[in-house]
Amino acid sequence: MQNFIYLLGDPATREAAVVDPGWEIPRLLDTLQQDGYRLTRVFVTHGHFDHVMGLGQLLDAADVPVYAHREEAPALAVDPSTLKVVGDGDVVHVGSVPVTLLHTPGHTPGSQCLLVDGRLLSGDTLFIRACGRCDLPGGDPKQLFESLSGKLKNLDDGTILYPGHNYAEVPTSTIADEKRHNPFLQFQTLEEFLRVVGVR
Ligand SMILES: [Zn+2]
Ligand SMILES: [Zn+2]
Repeated sequence: MQNFIYLLGDPATREAAVVDPGWEIPRLLDTLQQDGYRLTRVFVTHGHFDHVMGLGQLLDAADVPVYAHREEAPALAVDPSTLKVVGDGDVVHVGSVPVTLLHTPGHTPGSQCLLVDGRLLSGDTLFIRACGRCDLPGGDPKQLFESLSGKLKNLDDGTILYPGHNYAEVPTSTIADEKRHNPFLQFQTLEEFLRVVGVR
């Protein structure tokens, strides 16, 4: 699977969040402790098992809220008192660090990306030189085209891309590089995009 699990935090307040705790929860908790951070939030980009499988174990160890898009909430087995439902454009702070949530459906109905400090944590929506599948249950090629071309392509060129899987030669890219080299960002119309992904 080669998932990337991200930790982000405020070095001043030592508060931290984990994004997509799918695996290796003890190692995540050790890393936080070694770095002197306290876990205060969990974000999930979407509800596929490889991104959320460790949620139960993590929540047993830390009583913290889980932020997911409202369309994804039904896919998550999280207690309603712990689940914080968010929408497009919402901003959640980790310490004093603002995290902006972008609703990017297509891979799943409630997929979301996190924009923080010029970095985009893109889950399974955008990969380096690739994009997420839209032929799985809940996937929608039309929505994915809108999310990629209508939303992510409009981010600042210098935005650094941190994808949800290690599918490329390098772990990160930029929006500028993806606009130049990612085949799935080259389509000008939905029809062209559908011809390629709709029949995958
Ligand atoms: Zn997925
Ligand atoms: Zn995935």
